[in-house]
Parts: sequence; structure tokens; C-alpha cells
Amino acid sequence: LVRVHCVGICNTDLELVRGYYPYVGVPGHEFTGRVEAAPGGEEWIGRRVVGEISAVCHRCPACRAGRGSHCRNRTVLGISGRDGAMAEHLVLPLENLHAIPDGLADETAVFTEPTAAALQIQEQLSIGPGQRVQVIGAGKLGHLVAQTLALTGCDLLVLGRNAARLGLLAGRGIDTDTVDRLKEDEADLVVECTGNPEGFELARKAVRPGGTIVLKSTYRGLVPVPLAPLVVDEITVVGSRCGPFRPAIELLAAGRIDAASLVAERFPLCRGVEAFDRAAEPGVMKVLLDVAG
Ligand SMILES: [Zn+2]
Ligand SMILES: [Zn+2]
Repeated sequence: LVRVHCVGICNTDLELVRGYYPYVGVPGHEFTGRVEAAPGGEEWIGRRVVGEISAVCHRCPACRAGRGSHCRNRTVLGISGRDGAMAEHLVLPLENLHAIPDGLADETAVFTEPTAAALQIQEQLSIGPGQRVQVIGAGKLGHLVAQTLALTGCDLLVLGRNAARLGLLAGRGIDTDTVDRLKEDEADLVVECTGNPEGFELARKAVRPGGTIVLKSTYRGLVPVPLAPLVVDEITVVGSRCGPFRPAIELLAAGRIDAASLVAERFPLCRGVEAFDRAAEPGVMKVLLDVAG
């Protein structure tokens, strides 16, 4: 049982509210909090934590094969079958929790889940110097994807529309450009983070024949995509979701990922509806909900 401190609103939450997935319950999956009760794990009581969002069964074929994030019987915090973090308390299995170091503030640690999701790309693909990598979309997730990819030493370019958002990345030494200057067949790897179906078409243009497109957006509804060019150009498409928490916490604690400049505004939980409206405005980065200190 975790007393919630801070929750981030992410695009998945905005999509859930719009009905992309038939979830009914408390939203919120990016959180920090403090453990209040832990039957069988009393040493956790009082610890400040973040938590992996999928609670798994350990019995199904996916679990037994070590792919717990694809458990057939999973519940997912604030997304599927399990009330989420936009409440005073939440419940997760102890095995999902990760203690966070004292020096790591809640408003930074709350970026653990999306930073882990960004790092998942590097779990799935080997990325390093000499590779031409493009990130399309410079929103909340695009920023974290770009910052984590920059650490690999790859030849990175971020394409976006919003000059202020691109400027933040440029300030960190990351090459940026506007999306209308996208060049065809330039990239070995393209990561699509726009959240819009049109982003896929941009990614397809940018990737070279034989290259790879990583999809990070969860689109609502169907996306009309001409598949033949993917066959002819032998493009690999990789879906990418949750990632490893421990390295995400370490990067945030070491200050190697800048999360602070991504926070647009903070609201108390009692103004949560207003916070969702704010988060849904175009160009607004991360909106945080403060539940308790
Ligand atoms: Zn999220
Ligand atoms: Zn399972």
C-alpha cells in the first residue's frame, strides 16, 4: 500500500480519457510515493518508491518464458484492471517497487516510468556511434527518448514542430530541425514519438531501405498505412513499450537526464480535471499532480 506523492499525466492518460482503451477506474501510472503497509515485506514500510506498472501472474507461458511485461493475465496500474495513482493510495505487488535515493526529488523521480520506456529502445536494439538515428516528435516522450539516445553516442537528429521544445534539446547539444525539413532515406533508425498517425508516414519517409522504425506512440483507432513500401524497402517495424526502471532511476539521480525543464505546471489532485485540460493543450509538456508531500 503506497501513499502517493506525485503523479505525471502522460499521453496515454489523455488517450484513455478520450477512450482509446476501454478502461474504467482511477488513472495514473507515473508516480512516486511512500510505502505505508507491506504484509510480508515490513522492511519496505516508510521507503520512498516508484513502481513498475504491470502486475503479473508468474504462471502463464509469457511469464514462464521471462516476458513478464507481456503476461496474459496482467493488470496495469491505471490502464488495465488496476486502479492507478491519481488517488491518495495505490496498491502494487512488492516486486514492482523500486526504492528511490534520498537525493532524488519526487518531481524528478516521477519521470522514472517514461525514462524507462525510452530506455526500452536500447534493450530492443543495439544503438551506438556511427548510426544515424532520428527521433520524430519533440514532446514529453520524444525528449526523454532523445536524451537517452544521445547517451549512446549515435548520430542523433530530432525533428519537431515546436521551436521552444526543439530549443530545449539544442541547449543540451542535440541536433534538431523542423519536421518539414525531413530528408528521405537518411536514417538507419527512426523513433516515432509524435503520438499522431501522421508520424508513421514521416518515419517511413525518413528511414533508409533496410532500416528500422520504432513505434513509441499508442494511436487511437486504425492507422491507414501502405504496407507495400515496407516490404519493398525491407523496413523493420518495432513496437516498444515499458522498459527497465533501475537504469532510469540511476540516470535521473545522476542528473544525466534533465527532467526538471520538462515540467510545465503542477496542480493539486483536487484540481485534477483542470490539470488534464492543461496537459491536453498543444505544446504543453509534463503536467504533474501533487497528491501529498
Ligand atoms: Zn505514461
Ligand atoms: Zn503471466
